[in-house]
Amino acid sequence: MSFIRNEDAAFAQRFFKRYYIEHGEEVYVPERIQEREFGYFTFAEKVMVRHISFTSPGELTQMLAEKAPLHVYHSTAFYKYPRAPMDEKGWICSELAFDIDADHLKTPCRKSHDFKICRNCLLDYPVDVEKCAKCGAPLEKVEWVCESCLETARSEARKLLEILESDLGFEKIRLAFSGNRGYHVVVSDEHVLDLGQQERREIVDYVMAAGLEVRLLGLEGRRVRVEAAPDLGEPGWRGRIARQALQLLVSKNIAEICELAGERRPQSLTRDLEKLGKIEADRVPWSALSASSRRILLRAAVEAAAAHVDAVVTQDVHRLIRLGNSLNGKTGLRAQMINPNDLDDFDPMWSAVALPIDEEAHVKVIRSGGIRLRGLEIPPISRSIVKLPLAAAVLLLCRGVATLP
Ligand SMILES: [Zn+2]
Ligand SMILES: [Zn+2]
Repeated sequence: MSFIRNEDAAFAQRFFKRYYIEHGEEVYVPERIQEREFGYFTFAEKVMVRHISFTSPGELTQMLAEKAPLHVYHSTAFYKYPRAPMDEKGWICSELAFDIDADHLKTPCRKSHDFKICRNCLLDYPVDVEKCAKCGAPLEKVEWVCESCLETARSEARKLLEILESDLGFEKIRLAFSGNRGYHVVVSDEHVLDLGQQERREIVDYVMAAGLEVRLLGLEGRRVRVEAAPDLGEPGWRGRIARQALQLLVSKNIAEICELAGERRPQSLTRDLEKLGKIEADRVPWSALSASSRRILLRAAVEAAAAHVDAVVTQDVHRLIRLGNSLNGKTGLRAQMINPNDLDDFDPMWSAVALPIDEEAHVKVIRSGGIRLRGLEIPPISRSIVKLPLAAAVLLLCRGVATLP
């Protein structure tokens, strides 16, 4: 989805431009800027302008202030000739990038907040409708982002950071909110730069626990091999699985465990959980569970502990990623850089709000879910002209659910 009318895009761009003129120095300048490829989308055309490069941070901020792009990206790779066509760039090495997008996380709230609209008639419809009842035109889907979507993405980012730091020992880690509903994590430790696609794929498999053999945990069959069963304090996936399994057991939330494990028949687990009584906080009662309960619990623990990232992004050594602290054209929010230690305190709908909230604008809203901007609660809106803080008005224009009246 994008802007409904050209005037809406032009209106939003004015404020993007002002942001880049007034706050250009806050935009992240990637290391070794001369060796990076940059690319951007303008508000007018739908094609990406790419294969451009800058010799200094000043050149980058100047371009942003002049063009005020809809989206701006840079390569995680370093090239000898970043302006050359792809096969003549002379790839030197590349940072290791991870993309977490709430869209891939299949949050259950989607069913309640996504909808479709007809741009011609400015009408909204439920997601299962294909065509506009009034004009017959095909409808466009709007994927709304709620607090729960944002929280799910944050929790994936948290898991990813923990694995990258504790298990893989990476130290140079950049974290940024995407400005929409996800997070980007980039590792630039010296020894990851040379990794090829295959090695990057293995790292993805590790963080996602893909191909993890629970058979090797000593928990199969009727009897538990206690000496082989994972314990809470162990490093790596064994400890992580034990801690997650314990947490799930303590919650006694059978519905959640089954959902995570993709299990439809929880009878044995229900029985075992009833028998268990009070669960000690220092160890997983593996032996007290039946073989089938252990199997369900293990699958659920692995699924809950795995970091769900977009594998394609991490493997691609030529990938362009969103420039930190630039504006995201789908929302007008800032792709806020975050100190990884501050992730728990980060509030995207506060810190990433970069456009003014003390100015206001009138917009004709087709439909909007609730929005909380800098603590300001804006209730859901349906088919009406309203006066909103500028940041909220631009957000709805960018999402393509409102137009200028
Ligand atoms: Zn229509
Ligand atoms: Zn949601």
